[in-house]
Amino acid sequence: MSAPTIHRLDEATVARIAAGEVITRPARVVAELLDNALDAGAGRIDVTVDGDGTERIRVADDGCGLSQADAERAIERHATSKLPTGTDTDLTGVSTLGFRGEALAAIADCATLELVTNNGEAVGTELRVEDGDLSVRNAGRPQGTTVTVTDLFADRPARRESLAGQAAEFGRISELVARYALARPEVRFSLTHNGNETLSTSGGGFQDALLGVYNAETASRATTIEHATTVDGDGRLSVRGICCYPSVTRSTRDHVRVSVNGRPVTDSGLRRAVVAGYGSLIAGTRYPVAAIDIAPPARTVDPNIHPAKQEVGLTAREEIEESVETAVSKALTTADIRRTEDAATDLETELAAVDRSDPFGEVRVIGPFRDLYLLCEDGNELLVVDQHAAHERVNYERLRGSLAEEGVPTASVEPSETVSVSPAAAAAAETHADLLAELGFDVDRFGGGTLRVSGVPAPLGRVADLDLLVETLDKLAAGQQPGDQRDELLSDLACHPSLKAGDRLTKADAEALLERLGECEQPFACPHGRPTVCSLDESTLAAGFERGSTRFR
Ligand code: ADP
Ligand code: MG
Repeated sequence: MSAPTIHRLDEATVARIAAGEVITRPARVVAELLDNALDAGAGRIDVTVDGDGTERIRVADDGCGLSQADAERAIERHATSKLPTGTDTDLTGVSTLGFRGEALAAIADCATLELVTNNGEAVGTELRVEDGDLSVRNAGRPQGTTVTVTDLFADRPARRESLAGQAAEFGRISELVARYALARPEVRFSLTHNGNETLSTSGGGFQDALLGVYNAETASRATTIEHATTVDGDGRLSVRGICCYPSVTRSTRDHVRVSVNGRPVTDSGLRRAVVAGYGSLIAGTRYPVAAIDIAPPARTVDPNIHPAKQEVGLTAREEIEESVETAVSKALTTADIRRTEDAATDLETELAAVDRSDPFGEVRVIGPFRDLYLLCEDGNELLVVDQHAAHERVNYERLRGSLAEEGVPTASVEPSETVSVSPAAAAAAETHADLLAELGFDVDRFGGGTLRVSGVPAPLGRVADLDLLVETLDKLAAGQQPGDQRDELLSDLACHPSLKAGDRLTKADAEALLERLGECEQPFACPHGRPTVCSLDESTLAAGFERGSTRFR
């Protein structure tokens, strides 16, 4: 990348720029400096923070660097190399992270700023702005730029007051660097706090970024996403990223990270779409760990809607969200998401997800264990299948299929029976009459809290009992979203005729179950989000038996 030429923006463009105070806390300094380093084409970025960040923030990159003349212009307000010269520039489709030309000026306003840079020439430049005074001199430095910000908010006691303390402010910075590292997995990032390195990535792609931000365990339970489609007529949309298997969950949505063209954004719609892609694989109270970067057609992206550039405008939003959901669910469908219980999570372990159309084709059933589990042999691995969970998954997908066609079959109850339920449950029976009928219940109100039941679901040949109706009505009365409820009720219905603990399977039954599980869209989790299959690698047994690295010693 050749060094930029920095110029002042014209007044009309300045007037369009989303206004707002740029630097409100230390993490904002880091965000602006990261944007600049990435825009400079850096392959490696090292962030150093002391204390809560007001003491010192340093961001060093190996990007294109600046000439002395450009360095001096860079700290002027509304001076940028990133927009074309001319009047009233259109900001839609701008592909750089920065474009307002005000970050360095704003930082220099409220801190001491030192910038050492070299654009590949024999001598570099050191520039220092302290209390509004600028000093410039030659300096030695390899190509790239280091910006050091000290004494942030030294003369703004109100800003200092509003900060949340070292742990919280550094926490924000740490989350921010994690988001950039996952949005730009081809760049090496490191973060050092008070002399200790707290995060580092190798620039080797999404799996490596996940490893750097989390750990080897998490990185090994994840599958990459690669999806391309068209939106907004003939525009190309690509969705790339990584998502952890459903066995890795968190209690908040914070670990679902999204970026648009490598710009981390806090976009709740896109994050919801990622979660939706997991469907029923994760229980409703838990959230996945995932990072998605989308590249929509440039004409559909407006980066200028948020003062801190944390949101972007997307004109083809609905289509994009749908594609994100599809991309995630497709990645999970094709990935082998068996939960691996083996201890080997070092880097040497094969991290790539296995993509198999028939996941149990080569599997041999050994036999039942405690009438709860099926033990199977699969090459070097011992598979342990949870009979009940596996059967639930099979039933759930069959039910979902039949619901889409003709609804759940009903068995008539003759003579009809009456059940008394709470007033709320009776009201729910009326409100959700259609859904109940679809699920195979034939119910009408007898008066007060009494219901007459003349039909119950008979999913997959087993007739449900009336308790299931009462449970269903209680859930409906508790009133979640109807869409969620339908899935949850289907899961319950699937559970009902499924194998129970202690049901003994013949070998033929066991083989049939495995085969049907293999035909499922998402064979590796039950509809409630629990795993259906665990695997134990032979090497784990070898380690347990102290066989060392030589087999059959
Ligand atoms: P913006 O990024 O919106 O252009 P800034 O005030 O952040 O505004 O930066 C002003 C200019 O300084 C940029 O347009 C860029 O040309 C230059 N610059 C800033 N940081 C770097 C860096 N790390 N490496 C190379 N050039 C930089
Ligand atoms: Mg900038």
